[in-house]
Amino acid sequence: MANLDFKFLKEKYGTPLYIYDVNHLKKNMTGYLDYFKSNVFETEVLFASKAFCVKEMLRLVKAYNMSLDVVSIGELYTAIAVDFPMDKIYFHGNNKSISDLEFALNNNVGTIVVDNLMELVALDEITNRLNKKCNIIIRLNLGVEAHTHKFIVTAHVDSKFGVSYGSNDYNDMLDVLKNSKNINFKGFHSHIGSQIFDLDAFTAALEKMLGICKSFDKPLVLNIGGGFGVHYTDEDKPIPFDVVSKTLVDTCEKALKANNVKIEKLCIEPGRSIVAEAGYTLYTIGFTKKTPNKEYYFIDGGMTDNIRPALYQAKYDCDIVGKENELKNHIVTIAGKCCESGDLIIENHPLPEAKSGDLLVTYTTGAYGYSMSSNYNKALTPAVVFVEDGKDKLVCRRQSYDELLEREI
Ligand SMILES: *Cc1c(COP(=O)(O)O)cnc(C)c1O
Repeated sequence: MANLDFKFLKEKYGTPLYIYDVNHLKKNMTGYLDYFKSNVFETEVLFASKAFCVKEMLRLVKAYNMSLDVVSIGELYTAIAVDFPMDKIYFHGNNKSISDLEFALNNNVGTIVVDNLMELVALDEITNRLNKKCNIIIRLNLGVEAHTHKFIVTAHVDSKFGVSYGSNDYNDMLDVLKNSKNINFKGFHSHIGSQIFDLDAFTAALEKMLGICKSFDKPLVLNIGGGFGVHYTDEDKPIPFDVVSKTLVDTCEKALKANNVKIEKLCIEPGRSIVAEAGYTLYTIGFTKKTPNKEYYFIDGGMTDNIRPALYQAKYDCDIVGKENELKNHIVTIAGKCCESGDLIIENHPLPEAKSGDLLVTYTTGAYGYSMSSNYNKALTPAVVFVEDGKDKLVCRRQSYDELLEREI
């Protein structure tokens, strides 16, 4: 843990508080940028902004010359607010509205990731009407689906994302492209899941995509998505950046050679693995309570700042600040303050005895915490602080009660 003075930060900013270790963010970005490289084709690393989309984070991504994946106009709007280079933005989504697409084109978004046939038809019409050129890649459903520790190659044909290779819709899309004046087809995209530890799932997807490349004359752009796993608890064994990067590049280089195909560029779009482990959430413990079978420590946040445990039983690790090395002789459930029984952040975790007012820190909360936060029970969205070399910087103010009511008429 790098130089984070939690007690000081609590005094200065209050709790709950999202804290990011900037050096760790930078190390993670550099980890991909340094190793995801090839002499045979171009490479590009995109940050999947949905994992943590605030202006200061996007400024950092921009400073590192990385590209950006956005899945909504809200995320695109945030990127525009920090003058993110538009040519480095990929716009995803399975149900972009006509006005979403118009907004993206009018702002010269670099690449639109087209999800389905109807979207392509709509986009073709819009590019003609606005007289705008547009680069696209098509999101494929490759039938490779990864579930954290396992992956399956099936005809998982019913995903809401992407088009199945060889399907009628796919063939119709190729026809639309043939006749389109303004759409420039660049290649394919696939994203097989999240929090994946099995590199074979990625190489299987990549090999499928490379096989598809054979039927095209021009070298394509291939984007194999994100989803690289991180360490939440000791059950998780993430693969280091250099291994992930080199494995993917090597697989691709070998397959290209074997099949005598060329590609223009290989892209990855990690979100979680860039921000998760660099983030901490700091809470104050209020009351504690024993029930016949459980002991609870109650915190001043909960599912409103971290919905992942309630949403998909996500596991986290934690400590009581200043008591990290004390005997952990209580088996505790950390519960939030929302009116919802499922509002538990961590269940049955060994911790030392807590006093009211102690600080609790949860680790690896940098991804999908802030970005999935809510105002349920009219909780205020916590502040976000970046800390670098011992210096703290507020990057997002805590919401106020007036702001909470600002839009209500
Ligand atoms: C969510 C998502 C990502 C990032 O996934 P992580 O698990 O955060 O790395 C990348 N690409 C697409 C299309 C996504 O939907």
